[in-house]
Amino acid sequence: MSFPDELMHLIRTDEPLGPLVWLGIGGPARFFAEPVDETDLQRLVQAANEAGLPVRILGGGSNLLVREAGFDGLVISLAGAATSQIEINGSQMTAGAGAKLSHAVIKAVGSGLGGLEHLVGIPGSVGGAVVGNASSDGRDIGSVVQSVSVLEPTGERRTLTQQEAGFFHRKSSLLGLSIVAVTFELEPRDVAALTKRMQKLWIGRNASRPNEEPRIAMPFVEPDEMNVNELLQQVGLAGIREGQVSLDAQSPQFLIAHSGATSEQCLKLIERVREQVLLQTGIDLQLNLQIW
Ligand SMILES: Cc1cc2nc3c(=O)[nH]c(=O)nc-3n(C[C@H](O)[C@H](O)[C@H](O)COP(=O)(O)OP(=O)(O)OC[C@H]3O[C@@H](n4cnc5c(N)ncnc54)[C@H](O)[C@@H]3O)c2cc1C
Repeated sequence: MSFPDELMHLIRTDEPLGPLVWLGIGGPARFFAEPVDETDLQRLVQAANEAGLPVRILGGGSNLLVREAGFDGLVISLAGAATSQIEINGSQMTAGAGAKLSHAVIKAVGSGLGGLEHLVGIPGSVGGAVVGNASSDGRDIGSVVQSVSVLEPTGERRTLTQQEAGFFHRKSSLLGLSIVAVTFELEPRDVAALTKRMQKLWIGRNASRPNEEPRIAMPFVEPDEMNVNELLQQVGLAGIREGQVSLDAQSPQFLIAHSGATSEQCLKLIERVREQVLLQTGIDLQLNLQIW
């Protein structure tokens, strides 16, 4: 497989993915690119499609488990500045998919626009948050999405309405498309009150996170109206370990990859947890973590 000449300067081969994801695990991407603008992104998606090469978009890597075999296709990272811009127009805010979610939250709050402040502290990109319909404090990001600009696998650009994006509890119908930008419809509010609320939520979130552990993930979707942390505590799974992977003892909704952890150990631990929760409570815990 070779890409058109004008794209070759963007392509790297056998790029290790472990350092780019929070869990720090995973083999290489056969092809890897960081487009500098949207035109390049479009051409990369189109070229891969024409060659029959699978494409994955990498955001902040906070919701990804990459197997040691890596990914036999093209991984496109949206960390570049061109896909990270954020603009405000009245009560609407448009953010490039590569923008950090935390930047979008702070920009909205600082501009006196409410609707995203409860998502403060969720790591990752705007694109990653929208594709997985990230949520916190009982509200998901999809509820304030006005439209989503995506690239079809053919490279064709389309704008989808909130309804077409199909937001459900911690999922959307966007998986498989490349999100380029998202427009949010927000609510004008008092900056000081919004800032105070954001700070309060930030403190609460930070307190529950195992801060001394850099390699962590939040693998499970909260079951309807249940706190996954409390559920795992009740079932006695806090601190459970499989090789070099464990659930945190205080906040078991977090999976920790210790030195020497493998993707196999992560998957085994996740399966053991799901099995135990199902056996003891009848609840079928769904996976939030994406596996490549
Ligand atoms: C400490 C910690 C706390 C967390 N807290 C929360 C929480 O409170 N609530 C919550 O909902 N989640 C939480 N998460 C999970 C995670 O942060 C979110 O799911 C986040 O939105 C993932 O964004 P990302 O950019 O890192 O996605 P990535 O991990 O890079 O990607 C995840 C998936 O999204 C796809 N994707 C990413 N960008 C795009 C794009 N532009 N177009 C198409 N597909 C794309 C990827 O291909 C992949 O399938 C937490 C994770 C951690 C580690």
